[in-house]
Amino acid sequence: MTDVSAQAAQVLRTLALDEDLKWRVPEDLVLGPLVRRVARRYVAGDRLADALPRAAEIQAAGHRVNVEYMGESCRDAELAVAETQVFLDAATQLPAGCSLSLDLSHIGLAIDPDLALDNAVRIARATADTGREMVISAEGSSRTDAVLAVHGRLCEQFEHVGVTVQARLHRTAQDLPRLLDRPGRIRLVKGAFLEPEAIAWPREAPELAEAYLRYAEQLSGHLCSYATHDWDLIRTIAKGLDARPDAPWEFETLLGLGPDRLAEMAALGHPTREYIVFGTEWWLYVCNRIAEDPQRLLQALVDAAGPK
Ligand SMILES: Cc1cc2nc3c(=O)[nH]c(=O)nc-3n(C[C@H](O)[C@H](O)[C@H](O)COP(=O)(O)OP(=O)(O)OC[C@H]3O[C@@H](n4cnc5c(N)ncnc54)[C@H](O)[C@@H]3O)c2cc1C
Repeated sequence: MTDVSAQAAQVLRTLALDEDLKWRVPEDLVLGPLVRRVARRYVAGDRLADALPRAAEIQAAGHRVNVEYMGESCRDAELAVAETQVFLDAATQLPAGCSLSLDLSHIGLAIDPDLALDNAVRIARATADTGREMVISAEGSSRTDAVLAVHGRLCEQFEHVGVTVQARLHRTAQDLPRLLDRPGRIRLVKGAFLEPEAIAWPREAPELAEAYLRYAEQLSGHLCSYATHDWDLIRTIAKGLDARPDAPWEFETLLGLGPDRLAEMAALGHPTREYIVFGTEWWLYVCNRIAEDPQRLLQALVDAAGPK
């Protein structure tokens, strides 16, 4: 990235974490409609009802769908239980076959791991009853131990609960072998959080791409998801695989970021999935997506001026 692009990305990542802006900007009479138009590219909508038609459209295009109700770091136990209900509703209302993803800190991990486990068990039962996969997202490294511990407890009771690992975290080299002994899909991502270099590769480090490819190979016999928009990684991984629709792997991208990647992989015969998010807590998510690529800042400008 050029200096000014890197600075712009840093500004966006700082804005993303601003708790005040997160509420004020979307509700502002002038700015609100503009940022909502920008968000529309990346977010299915505020409510579960908005995600339903998007999920059906993606399935009609031949891809699998994953749905996440956005939110994290919930610090109120009653709210964590109420938020769990939205996932339970999603488990019954989404089109058949859609999987569900969640941050454990959305349903209580930042308050008490046992609360998160109780809520996660309820979602795991509801997804099992409706024949869906459930995949736990990766959070900042300070939560990785707690996330993997809750996932381990879920795997004692359920076969369909997956987990996400971050290639950029050095600890993944030790975590992955024991996760491979657990059932459920393992989603491999680069990792979105700001982490110190002592524990994580920076985004542009060649070692990160090497680690991603090494883990991708270790995962290929396991139910897994290669969740990246990085063309080099996608094409290198695909070259090493015999494409087939019933493969244990899939290529997965976030809504609005990789339809071209999914189309190419699907045309080769690989399973593909699009990951859609809904909810009112989209500020942090959208700022982070735009920060990842300077082109998206220009796209945001175009989107802001687009149709209402
Ligand atoms: C399905 C899915 C689920 C996810 N879940 C999680 C999760 O649970 N936890 C989590 O932490 N993260 C998650 N992520 C986000 C992920 O960790 C990355 O932050 C995000 O996907 C960007 O990384 P990337 O692998 O797509 O590759 P990128 O690094 O974004 O590369 C994609 C493309 O961007 C361009 N690019 C790369 N570097 C630069 C640069 N410096 N400047 C400009 N352009 C550049 C290149 O053209 C490259 O081909 C998820 C991602 C996906 C797809």
